[in-house]
Amino acid sequence: MTERIFNFAAGPAVLPEPVLGEAQRDLMALPGIGMSVLEISHRSKTFEAIIRGTEEDIRKLARVPDNYQVLFLQGGASLQFAMVPMNILPAGSQADYIVTGSWSKKAVKEAGKLGRVNIAASTESENFCRVPQQPELKLDPEAAYVHITTNNTIFGTEWRREPEVGRVPLVADASSDIFSRPLDVTRYALIYAGAQKNLAPAGVTLVIIRDDLLSRSPKTLPTMLDYNTHAREKSLYNTPPVFAIYVMGLVMKWLHGQGGLEGIGRKNAEKAKLLYDTLDSSGGFFRPHARPDSRSNMNVTFRLPSEELEKRFVAEAAKAGMDGLKGHRSVGGIRASIYNAFPRAGVEALVTFMKEFQRRNG
Ligand SMILES: *Cc1c(COP(=O)(O)O)cnc(C)c1O
Repeated sequence: MTERIFNFAAGPAVLPEPVLGEAQRDLMALPGIGMSVLEISHRSKTFEAIIRGTEEDIRKLARVPDNYQVLFLQGGASLQFAMVPMNILPAGSQADYIVTGSWSKKAVKEAGKLGRVNIAASTESENFCRVPQQPELKLDPEAAYVHITTNNTIFGTEWRREPEVGRVPLVADASSDIFSRPLDVTRYALIYAGAQKNLAPAGVTLVIIRDDLLSRSPKTLPTMLDYNTHAREKSLYNTPPVFAIYVMGLVMKWLHGQGGLEGIGRKNAEKAKLLYDTLDSSGGFFRPHARPDSRSNMNVTFRLPSEELEKRFVAEAAKAGMDGLKGHRSVGGIRASIYNAFPRAGVEALVTFMKEFQRRNG
């Protein structure tokens, strides 16, 4: 087998090795079926069992209450930026958006095309190095919903707990930290996530939506853009991304084996701590971008003393078998994405490399 390197990419990102192994083993023919999952009908009993099993495992993993729908959609988180306001922002009302990074801004842009948006808070003037504190939020008690981005993939910040929004429905783009720690679904009215960071290969978008929101969708919506269609048809109105849902099912089983969200949450916190401790004890050689109260356990962002050293860091790390460490251009520097499936051994290798790099260049 080809040797695998440590993949720090922000997304599409690393998948659990046992999942890749099982998908590979069964790719020619699913056991007892004689056909590949790539070839079977989405109306077959086999696929029915796969999609319902995946939903069931998600419900158990996150303790999703019965009054929420679990939907498998397409178009990525980016389509949700538009589908959310299309469905749940009634004409004449306004939605609150808390802006904590580039993805929040894109969500605002789409909502602004479809209705009225209030920016309840933004940390853009600080280059999104933190999420806002509760007293900074200018929330409208009459808002149709409040939208947050739970983890800011590019900037490396994450909400430690949900903002208090009273009775207003909370909507979250959780693309880059979904199922990375314990999650109280009842705090949210709608959670969406593109799969390619923490759930599955690209191609499927997970949406968890509370039933009462479904009544808001205008009757004029195109069928495919109406959450009611997908809720009614159990995500089988049209051909769903069969393979991505199949792999998501394997990832959910793997997560149960990790001790569920509590178990994976502990592992993720430990992995992140190894890196943040290294940054904090470097005497200023490595400068973390995120403020301590907003640090992400999924994307660790930092700068080095010069751009030249950053370039060298990325190049030498790649030679040492660590790929995908170049930061996004809006932050610069380094970004280590360490999602659920990223192994602790890879974090330890990076920490060793960082200390050695500092010794040679500090
Ligand atoms: C990656 C990402 C997106 C975009 O997801 P697509 O599935 O490519 O549309 C949106 N929000 C966040 C927080 C992301 O990390």
